[in-house]
Amino acid sequence: VFAHVVRAPEDPILGVTVAYNKDPSPIKLNLGVGAYRTEEGKPLVLNVVRKAEQILVNDSSRVKEYLPIVGLADFNKLSAKLIFGADSPAIQENRVTTVQCLSGTGSLRVGAEFLAKHYHQVNGSFIFFILFFLFLRTIYIPQPTWGNHPKIFTIGGLSVKTYSYYDPATRGLNFQGSMYICFLSCYDDFFFGVIGLLDDLSSAPSGAIVLLHACAHNPTGVDPTLEQWEQIRKLMRSKGLLPFFDSAYQGFASGSLDADAQSVRMFVADGGECLVAQSYAKNMGLYGERVGALSIVCKNADVASRVESQLKLVIRPMFSNPPIHGPSIVATILKDSNMYNEWTIELKAMADRIISMRHKLFEALRARGTPGDWSHIIKQIGMFTFTGLNSEQVVFMTKEYHIYMTSDGRISMAGLSTKTVPHLADAIHAAVTR
Ligand code: PMP
Repeated sequence: VFAHVVRAPEDPILGVTVAYNKDPSPIKLNLGVGAYRTEEGKPLVLNVVRKAEQILVNDSSRVKEYLPIVGLADFNKLSAKLIFGADSPAIQENRVTTVQCLSGTGSLRVGAEFLAKHYHQVNGSFIFFILFFLFLRTIYIPQPTWGNHPKIFTIGGLSVKTYSYYDPATRGLNFQGSMYICFLSCYDDFFFGVIGLLDDLSSAPSGAIVLLHACAHNPTGVDPTLEQWEQIRKLMRSKGLLPFFDSAYQGFASGSLDADAQSVRMFVADGGECLVAQSYAKNMGLYGERVGALSIVCKNADVASRVESQLKLVIRPMFSNPPIHGPSIVATILKDSNMYNEWTIELKAMADRIISMRHKLFEALRARGTPGDWSHIIKQIGMFTFTGLNSEQVVFMTKEYHIYMTSDGRISMAGLSTKTVPHLADAIHAAVTR
């Protein structure tokens, strides 16, 4: 009965590791997967995580009962505090509901399904009713974005559109847009204009949802400045666009948990609503434990409690209730000030090692006289560099140098080490001078 099933393609990101694993070369290098590696190229379990696990193991009162549908209460409270700030008025006013989900992906997925079911901005008038069916429940995602976003939101029941984000010419943010020429057949004429992030959000229909990477945009490594975030916030609020933040790298961009939450906190400070999906995969190295949270900031406590009751109805048939071990580790660390401090030190060390790899790669290309401006390697933020290498160059580097990365030229800086930088620089130099 399954004979008709056709083979699905490999996931474009995880498929890179599948290909890497098959390569017998001793010099192979995997820069595809977004997971931190030490200078020795090994996965890292943070010391503070090992300590927390030890505490949990030694506590004989701990049991393995099911958690409630919304997860571990302590974990949810502490996660909200981490992203919104310890003195967040929204938390004090009880207008935030936080539910534990399966890492960042699961949090985005639960958020999507909740929005598909309950996000109506219908003001009662007929025109709003029509607009609702035409446009609402549309989520605008940046172009480009993490490859899983369109799939998560489509399967979650939202319609997906894109907004401009990256400018390949500057390898930076396409904020105001750039000059372009297009032919408008209705006027039988050429039209000169600008398209950029602000233009696209300005022309998005009022009430649309907008996905924003809280920091360390994946795959480009390009973030708006605080001034640009403020302009985005003003525009979105004036148009009634609903922000849905994806916070998968808090602490990884700057090394500071607070600095990396600035964008989210700006939107919460204005009293408006938003959603935030948090992941502890990268910043606590809990990748496989699948620990994350979805927070929805509402107008008041009553709305927040009704929203939570509906989130339970989304979660119950999806995974019933979330796992207990991962969030227990997180809660143990977040509620103890010494362990929290230890975590921030280890987190900063990871962020600093990534930044030092950026400088080493940049210097190595400069030393080789590699044609082109490679300053984006040190300007971009977070785990990834969007190199600007095209798919042909990527294929060449994989074939000749056994270097694995996604076909859009994204490399994980976290997968590099002092030892492997020269090999990568040689490969890039060969690819661009071929
Ligand atoms: N959002 C972005 C932008 C990501 O890069 C990732 C991880 N690659 C995630 C969400 C979710 O990751 P996870 O489900 O492992 O927490």
